[in-house]
Amino acid sequence: LSSRGCRRLRGAQLKDLLREKHCVLFDCDGVIWNGEKPVTGAPEVVNMLKKRGKSVFFVTNNCTRPRESYVQKFLRLGFKDVVQSEILSSSYCSAIYLRDVAKLQGKVYVIGCDGVHKELREAGVQFVEDDAAVPGATISDCPLESDVRAVLVGYDDELNFLKLAKACCYLRNPDCLFLATDRDPWHPLRGGRVTPGSGSLAAALETAAERKATVIGKPSRFMFQCIASQFGVDPRRAIMVGDRLETDILFGWSCGVDTVLTLTGVSTLEQAQAYRDSLAPEKAICVPDYVVDSIADFLPAL
Ligand code: PLP
Ligand code: CA
Repeated sequence: LSSRGCRRLRGAQLKDLLREKHCVLFDCDGVIWNGEKPVTGAPEVVNMLKKRGKSVFFVTNNCTRPRESYVQKFLRLGFKDVVQSEILSSSYCSAIYLRDVAKLQGKVYVIGCDGVHKELREAGVQFVEDDAAVPGATISDCPLESDVRAVLVGYDDELNFLKLAKACCYLRNPDCLFLATDRDPWHPLRGGRVTPGSGSLAAALETAAERKATVIGKPSRFMFQCIASQFGVDPRRAIMVGDRLETDILFGWSCGVDTVLTLTGVSTLEQAQAYRDSLAPEKAICVPDYVVDSIADFLPAL
């Protein structure tokens, strides 16, 4: 078992792999860009893959923005021809899930940013438009809506106690669906700072509600199902390229897609090797098949 995975991809092996695979799934932050900085060579890699006739998709757990603003970001960072249908975010897929899978009748109570609101609106899913917080208001005296049938929790930089309390009250109803955009624990920012991720908010609400949320983003398979059902992708002909073992690599493994860890983001080669050498089955499923320093390593093979 210990020799499985973490294989360095270079030269002829990379060429062979890219010949075999028709579809490349990229995580965004830590793979394609770091914040507002594109990974060196990433625009050329995406461009060349498309020129070679590969399908390319971007699978991000970042729920803060709607897909149209990712289209703008790709353009701003020098990616010339990325279109909205190639971008799957955890907020977009949450909206699709509520509309097409849950077939929600009623409203969603949202803890989240604009990205979630815009995607829900676009999908025609109704949600509670929370009024501005009244100073001094408590959960005992704030009204609750009777037609809330789901709670969706994601990254919210304006989270407050009252929102958490309201969500908790709605979740007392066992028929109220409980969804989380993703479980990402934290994200790196510039200068060594970090921000808590959606997962930290979901955990707070899960504790209060004594229920577990259904997760939409990676590593749940739902985002891949969205791609597979719309574009007919065969997992055996796809690769998933990501920077986080517990998110991207586990996602690929769960979907039956070969995985590539790139070292431009959160997880390190040492962590991947420690997982490979560990006997714990929950670690073994987070071991990447392949490792590259950066997706720029793909260029010579293209
Ligand atoms: N969620 C938030 C709020 C983020 O800021 C980030 C990364 O910056 C992510 C999720 C992770 O995004 P990705 O899945 O593209 O790495
Ligand atoms: Ca990432």
